[in-house]
Amino acid sequence: MSSSSASLAITGRTKVFGIIGDPIEHSLSPPMQNAALHQLGVDGVYVPFRVDGQQLAAAMAGLGAIGVQGFNVTIPHKQAVMPHLVSLTDSAQAIGAVNTVWRTKQGWAGTNTDVLGFMAPLRAQTVNWARSRVVVLGYGGAARAVVAGCQQLGCQDIWVVGRSAQKLEQFAQSWQQSPLPVALKTGLWDALGSLLGGTTLLVNTTPLGMSPRVEDSPVSKGDLAHLPLGAIAYDLIYTPRPTRFLQLAAEGGLTTLDGFEMLVQQGAAALEIWTQQSPPVAIMRQALATHLGSRMQ
Ligand code: NAP
Repeated sequence: MSSSSASLAITGRTKVFGIIGDPIEHSLSPPMQNAALHQLGVDGVYVPFRVDGQQLAAAMAGLGAIGVQGFNVTIPHKQAVMPHLVSLTDSAQAIGAVNTVWRTKQGWAGTNTDVLGFMAPLRAQTVNWARSRVVVLGYGGAARAVVAGCQQLGCQDIWVVGRSAQKLEQFAQSWQQSPLPVALKTGLWDALGSLLGGTTLLVNTTPLGMSPRVEDSPVSKGDLAHLPLGAIAYDLIYTPRPTRFLQLAAEGGLTTLDGFEMLVQQGAAALEIWTQQSPPVAIMRQALATHLGSRMQ
């Protein structure tokens, strides 16, 4: 018996947390959150639940009925849970997706901690965000958390670059009426060269470069050479570490950030909501790194 399973003693007092999704077997959250609960000394356990889309309402009512304290939400339920919540944060509304749910007297409440996760490593940088230009590559789900994060950091100029003019237009419009209104600027991929000269932060939210297509990069070394000294290249991808994009950026002397810390910090923010305790971030990092490492062998 391993030391972690030896220490897990479930009793009638044990609090239950979890994650719902479908599929769920590859979720990285259970090892990370269980290590954190253990470190905090919380008598709690974090369980993955595979929930079929047809059963979502029943599953949420059931989780409430059996006293689950809170849970994360992953694909494909991040939007579908929203009508079943009694309250939503502005971030979750602006993003249009929920990844963290907690119990209230009235019912389940939800937010999206990807925004905090995205911002955490940026807050450690010395940047005057009020005078900064951000360029976001892609306009999918993760890009919404990035835009909300940049809005909260107070970035002066937020550009979103993608390959479909129509999708860029829809994306920009969706932010005008949002609870976190943002006046986005948009451009097609070939506008990048002229944009990067004045850019402080370049964020990749596309899957380009994600394992197994590790040779792909959303931008070339030549594109990256336009970025000013001190600029930050941020890739939301966490496998491989580093991605080709971040390798090229590091070779060009840029500051680099990958998606690993975002993943840890979105989990830490969820844990803090549920336990009201300061999360053991170093333990969470370690558990996630170990789990990612063993998954890649
Ligand atoms: P998504 O909703 O599918 O969005 C993907 C975006 O990438 C879309 O805008 C898509 O544009 C664009 N794209 C895809 N292939 C492209 C290509 N060949 N050239 C140009 N653009 C392309 O995915 P997501 O949920 O936002 O996730 C995106 C990435 O972020 C994934 O790698 C994911 O692992 C990562 N992520 C990391 C974290 C973290 O905690 N670190 C959290 C969330 C996501 P089109 O619509 O035009 O195809």
